[in-house]
Amino acid sequence: MPRMPVLFAGHGSPMNAIEDNVYSRTWKDLGQKLIRPKAILSISAHWYTRGTRILNDENPRTVYDMYGFPRELYKVTYNAAGSPDMAQRAKALISRPTEYDNTWGFDHGTWSVLVHMYPDRDIPVFQISIDADAPAEAHYNMGKELKALRDEGVLILASGNIVHNLRLVDWHKVSKGFDWAYEFDDYIYENIMNKAHDNIIHYSRAGDCAGLAVPTPDHFYPLLYALGASDEADTVTVYNKSCELGALTMTCYLWE
Ligand code: ZN
Repeated sequence: MPRMPVLFAGHGSPMNAIEDNVYSRTWKDLGQKLIRPKAILSISAHWYTRGTRILNDENPRTVYDMYGFPRELYKVTYNAAGSPDMAQRAKALISRPTEYDNTWGFDHGTWSVLVHMYPDRDIPVFQISIDADAPAEAHYNMGKELKALRDEGVLILASGNIVHNLRLVDWHKVSKGFDWAYEFDDYIYENIMNKAHDNIIHYSRAGDCAGLAVPTPDHFYPLLYALGASDEADTVTVYNKSCELGALTMTCYLWE
């Protein structure tokens, strides 16, 4: 079986789920271009928990974990099957304590991207949560442990945003960013390209822009799983290197 790629998707606004735009088109193209996975592991910014939780439901529900959007968005369902087998495999690979938890389902970090990548909903999907209490290194190391899934037909989708500061969103800045947003996004880009993962785990080394770009780490930590699961030999491709509303970067990375 060919080794599956790893994707970090900057998901941005939940509206991307129902819009036809440069972001949704990128995800659609990726779904068509990548080797078809046997299952998908999603690590979404929106399942931010105490401890690491694993969704092993056979038929996960769609979770609408966003507020105040048009009614149309709450009608989207992503009714792909779950993957209890791969969830069990992932649980065995992670050395930290983990628990199964089916109180969650597919959240919008997962489905806003997958509705475009795999609109037929015919590939099983499971999620692993992001432990809010674990240090950055621990997230990176869990990514390393999960790397083995790539050889078992699993596409690892890490869904977040490298720059994500909702408090500083500026509705006048359509497709534009603050200087600090570009500065931090570029810092991460350089270090990904140079495979200098230590500078990404210790992202405060970027300086003042880091605190503005990552006020809370929920949207940043998915990147650490993708980095951990990447391999020296992988080729990195960058998509959607851009900024929305001043304080959200949409940059996606594919390792294959
Ligand atoms: Zn989000």
